[in-house]
Amino acid sequence: MAPSALSSVQVVVRLRPLNEKEQQHGTLPVVSANTAAKTVTVLKGQGSRQTKTNFKFDNVFGSFSTQQEVFDATLRPVIRDVLSGFESTVFAYGSTGTGKTHTMEGSLDDPEQFGVIPRSAAAIFSELEKNPEYVSSQVSCSFLEIYNEDLNDLLVSKDNQSPKLSIMEGKNGPFCRGLTEVIVQSAEDLLELMRKAQQQRQVGETSMNKQSSRSHCIFTLKVVAKRKLSDGSILDSSGKLHCCDLAGSENAKAANVMDDSGEQQAARERERMNINRSLLTLGRVVSTLKELSQNPKKACVRIPYRDSKLTRILQESLGGKCKTCVIATISPSVTAIEDSLSTLSYASAANGIVNKPVTTSFMTAGSGTITSILDKKPSATDDGV
Ligand code: ADP
Ligand code: MG
Repeated sequence: MAPSALSSVQVVVRLRPLNEKEQQHGTLPVVSANTAAKTVTVLKGQGSRQTKTNFKFDNVFGSFSTQQEVFDATLRPVIRDVLSGFESTVFAYGSTGTGKTHTMEGSLDDPEQFGVIPRSAAAIFSELEKNPEYVSSQVSCSFLEIYNEDLNDLLVSKDNQSPKLSIMEGKNGPFCRGLTEVIVQSAEDLLELMRKAQQQRQVGETSMNKQSSRSHCIFTLKVVAKRKLSDGSILDSSGKLHCCDLAGSENAKAANVMDDSGEQQAARERERMNINRSLLTLGRVVSTLKELSQNPKKACVRIPYRDSKLTRILQESLGGKCKTCVIATISPSVTAIEDSLSTLSYASAANGIVNKPVTTSFMTAGSGTITSILDKKPSATDDGV
């Protein structure tokens, strides 16, 4: 069976709302999302020197978007493919505090706030239960953390980590040897495992070392199923869904923390280089795949999977018959404008579209406050500023 007709690579952007603290401080929102036009607009600077940059994507979610809407537009269409034996990968990319974990996991105690992982699991179990064609099935999951090119199994405690955890070349491509795979019987089972993994992630970090923003987390759901078709034939399938909550992209920039000791600075530098390499490689892999999906004649182009552990381990799930979705998350705040521009540029490059800043002559009111679209009330499709 062929995968559904969507492009094999989708790049979407999700804008988070201003948080309480930002609202209390009167922080200016400078990013707006237009869901109908699928564009994001960033206003930078003031007065006659104000620049307005538009970015276009496959989909754009404003700060009023719900978890359900994000799931429906990104992962719901690929659940059927996973059940039919295809692989799919979704990435959350963005700086710390922009909503990567909110989008991927969400709140695990409030169904309204479930992120794409619990929603995907629920959709998979629901389809397996209600479609009588499925005569048997097994759903299992694994949860891998890549920190500083080291691998951690998030489904076992820190003390019981397998010393064998390493990337090996198998007959079906690279895989992580020693990674625990747990069979789950229901979406509720899976939530319980995710809660444990969340704790596991938190145990591993101290306030001095906020590792979660500097590590990549790959949650994998595997579905092995047997279907009995109307002609009586039996169809075996084995599909996978990988959900990656990436390291905060701000770590990929040269950040000098002044009060760090020499040793700490060296450790930060090592982290930064590893994050930089993996995020840049991922960007290159995704943009090459996007190019190939739009122009299959370029089949001879080399895809740089082997240039980072992140892309190497996901090699078999990126490209070919696999669907890939990048969800870039951004803050609307003026204080995060450089990070937002950097995330949007990265996502645009992955999208295969180069955006050029457009200087506009916005009128400013009185003492240089940003006006114009900033004063506009959000409509059904406009959002953010
Ligand atoms: P990240 O994983 O990118 O560091 P988080 O997902 O932890 O960021 O989000 C930071 C905070 O902002 C959390 O409290 C989260 O609940 C909130 N948040 C993020 N995105 C949204 C959103 N789209 N709507 C509402 N709250 C959000
Ligand atoms: Mg997070």
